[in-house]
Amino acid sequence: MVGEAGVSGASGRVLPERVHVPSGRVLCLSDAAARVAAREVVGEALGEARRVEGEGALAAREGAPWLRDLRVLEGAGVVTEGGEAVAIGALSLRDAHVLRALLAWASVVPEEEGEFSCENCGEVFRAAPSALLEVGPFTDGELHDPDLDRSFDAGAWHAVPAFRAGGTLCRRVRLAERTVDEAMPLLLAAGGRSLRMTPAVAAAMGVVALGSERRASVIAEALSEAPEAAWSAVVDVYHEARYPARLWAVHRCAGCGARNDLDVPLERELSRGEVRAGGRRRGGERAAFPDLDAFEREVREAAERVYRVRGVRNIDLFVDAGVPLCDDGGEPLLGCYTPGGMDPVLMIERPPEVRIFYRSFEAEHRADPGFDVLAEIKETLDHEVTHHLHYLSGDDPLDDEERGEIEKERVRRVGVAESARRARQGLRAEVVGFLRVAWPLLLVAALGAWMGWCQGP
Ligand SMILES: [Zn+2]
Ligand SMILES: [Zn+2]
Repeated sequence: MVGEAGVSGASGRVLPERVHVPSGRVLCLSDAAARVAAREVVGEALGEARRVEGEGALAAREGAPWLRDLRVLEGAGVVTEGGEAVAIGALSLRDAHVLRALLAWASVVPEEEGEFSCENCGEVFRAAPSALLEVGPFTDGELHDPDLDRSFDAGAWHAVPAFRAGGTLCRRVRLAERTVDEAMPLLLAAGGRSLRMTPAVAAAMGVVALGSERRASVIAEALSEAPEAAWSAVVDVYHEARYPARLWAVHRCAGCGARNDLDVPLERELSRGEVRAGGRRRGGERAAFPDLDAFEREVREAAERVYRVRGVRNIDLFVDAGVPLCDDGGEPLLGCYTPGGMDPVLMIERPPEVRIFYRSFEAEHRADPGFDVLAEIKETLDHEVTHHLHYLSGDDPLDDEERGEIEKERVRRVGVAESARRARQGLRAEVVGFLRVAWPLLLVAALGAWMGWCQGP
């Protein structure tokens, strides 16, 4: 763990000197000043022996993580702009949360590991998400992605499940921008066992309208009595407003390779999660997902038709009820195609195979009420047969396209300049260690080509 002042954190990282934040400002950070401030604010958490200190320090160390982080940012010389100190209270909360994420990323402040279970295989894992954040786009000023860097429209309405507000039924909510100071009543009230919703807290959340209702006292009462599904929808809008979409990290499951997307920073003033699953389950009636036997029957019937139309035969069909394989990007696959040929492990001749993953279909069905299972089965089979025909013709442009998409998505997240830096470093490492690593790399590449024709959801 971390010892003295001025020594970088457990991660060995230092805070970036310049960061671009969502509002467009470019702020300067001092790693040394931040560590001095952190030592004062979270001395104990950084591994110092417990000491009796003034009441202020004790309150600070026992406060919520976001309050602790804001105090660190307020430290002398920590955040500046054009040589001037930046008033943290006047920052937009959205900008402040980016700075909080960077504090945790560089281990200036500790982030406790959270416990999660893999969305694909269910394996439990522990992770501190901020350490996995890609900071390149913030340091290189590449906050232009239409999706990851979209700004929050404070004038827009957001649909929520209907709930009562004053005398009327509210179906939409509007949130205004909030600075750190404006949000303070919420930041102070949150983090306890339960959040007491007062007019000041509702105003600090930025909820300025629930349907036609605009009175803070009525809004506060309506929020405190809102059913779980409605409250969780409001919390989702709140997260969209206060945390840029880029504040998330990818954890690849050690068991199955699936990507799991985690919130950064993990500790947020309004938590979401458990509630949402309950809310989703209530979402109206729809057909139950077929059991494995019924699903397999559908797959075989659809395959017969698809094979006939595409003029193919003798492709093994396997409905896999196990943990779905993932593509190179960690996305669980709906299906995958493996060409025929000599099995490099068993050394026997194998026919080509199309494999359909039961659990991926089930997961898509659960996540998306509009997911048409039968149509998707047919489309997946057709897609895998296309890989088969491309394979027979000696060239698979569909596979190239899919790999291109995965790479594009990775670059959007990691950043263009950072991807280039990593490629250069990788290249150097490869040349230096070529003889040592070339043989296993080539083997991996060969296996990859043999296993590789797959379709994502
Ligand atoms: Zn997994
Ligand atoms: Zn594919």
